[in-house]
Amino acid sequence: MKVNGCYTIAELSEDLRRLTARYPFVAAGSIGRSVLGKPIYYLRIGEGAFRWHFNACCHANEWITSPLVIRFVNQFAHACSTGGAVGGIPAWTLFRKASLWVVPMLNPDGAELAQCGASPCHPYARELCEWNGGSDDFTQWKANVRGVDLNDQFPAHWEEERSRRQVPGPAPRDFGGDAPLTEPEAQALANWTRGMDFGAVLSLHTQGEEIYWNYRGHEPPYAEDWADRMAEAAGYRAVYLEGSDAGYKDWFLQTFGRPGFTVEAGRGRNPLPWEDLEEISARLNRLLAQALDLPP
Ligand SMILES: [Zn+2]
Repeated sequence: MKVNGCYTIAELSEDLRRLTARYPFVAAGSIGRSVLGKPIYYLRIGEGAFRWHFNACCHANEWITSPLVIRFVNQFAHACSTGGAVGGIPAWTLFRKASLWVVPMLNPDGAELAQCGASPCHPYARELCEWNGGSDDFTQWKANVRGVDLNDQFPAHWEEERSRRQVPGPAPRDFGGDAPLTEPEAQALANWTRGMDFGAVLSLHTQGEEIYWNYRGHEPPYAEDWADRMAEAAGYRAVYLEGSDAGYKDWFLQTFGRPGFTVEAGRGRNPLPWEDLEEISARLNRLLAQALDLPP
């Protein structure tokens, strides 16, 4: 795994190639493509009956969640092959208990923009600069390259989120689009999720060391306990949240009535720096391993 610097689709592709070559029980594929045609990859590990889904890098400037979730899969796979533990739990226990499907970079165009900027030959160079208030500094950019915030794109009280946000058009953050699921990244995730029968899902964001677990009463009765146990494993806080709609976990909870979580990893100001990776990873791996161990 890359040890410093940036993490875009190029680094991710290389990590997936290495992971699947080294560990025959790790599979990879794609759930669709981004606005600019980049693959939205998935990884699969584990053969248990309970189907877990983790995703990362929905928000462009939270790109560090991609190397974080890849590190988890890498340590999980390594521990499976050596009979070791991941996040303090024997890897084989988790492998037999759950099948884990990971989408490590939901917003590959945004991740590239937030880390590399928009060169003059970027197909959206002119619009991006305009939507970014004339600035060529994209380090705070959260949306996809059409200026749509992917975590405001899901059909769960989408109109209410739009009135709350008051962002009328493409922007670095908080514009939910002209309608739900207009963006290929959000569409791909929703369609794929509908066909996958996941028992639970978890979206990785930064920052705050918090776990959100409820949505307008759609959460199952055990969701709070699950959040508490994940929080305890990592030293995070489980938080009851109101006044937020249209996110992926909101839509999942509302549609399926199964547990859906948003995890805000790390602490500081986004984008969290690469130097924080080790420290965040150590605690997050405990949280993610605990998640896989939760189903009865
Ligand atoms: Zn976020």
